[in-house]
Amino acid sequence: MQFDTKIFDAADLLVLETAVELCKVLKERHYYTDTAGFSIRCNACGKSCVGEKGATEHAAQTGHYDFGEAG
Ligand SMILES: [Zn+2]
Repeated sequence: MQFDTKIFDAADLLVLETAVELCKVLKERHYYTDTAGFSIRCNACGKSCVGEKGATEHAAQTGHYDFGEAG
């Protein structure tokens, strides 16, 4: 995979890496059938995020990218 540095700055790369890591975790936990509707907790601040999109947005806004299962 190649990244255009004009489009992706360092923060975006981090978010992309986070999303990739998140997808791995989710697949391991069998969340992949519903990547938009699951809840996931940020281990850094405890905020619950909804869906892969919510988690990725939280990572982008806060720099937190240590997510775990909500509950
Ligand atoms: Zn957080």
